[in-house]
Amino acid sequence: MDRTGRLASLIAHHADPIGHLVGILSFTLPRFRDGCFLYVTDRGLARLILSRRGYSAITFGHVVVAARTLPETIWRHELRHVTQYETVGCAFLPLYLLLYRRHGYRAHPLERDASSPTRIFDG
Ligand SMILES: [Zn+2]
Repeated sequence: MDRTGRLASLIAHHADPIGHLVGILSFTLPRFRDGCFLYVTDRGLARLILSRRGYSAITFGHVVVAARTLPETIWRHELRHVTQYETVGCAFLPLYLLLYRRHGYRAHPLERDASSPTRIFDG
């Protein structure tokens, strides 16, 4: 892969740089899994936004930051968020935040979709 190809794989979605920034500020390097970058760490920013708030992982585009090694069910949940990002595009983060404000986390339609066998989006 040439330099342009490597950069393109690092930034395949507009939200990817946010995920890489969170990962880097969590003091670890990513590994590549199922077409995504995965940072596993319970330090730095990951500790603040995940562990201390009771969450195990967060996804930005094709980048997943996890506070610990994820069970397969949670990994599949995060991969659904990746599909949601690909489907919704640049509107994903504003849409997610709007729905979070209205529904909270547990009743959030995109969270329910990520955890349900019935999908809003195919993929
Ligand atoms: Zn989720």
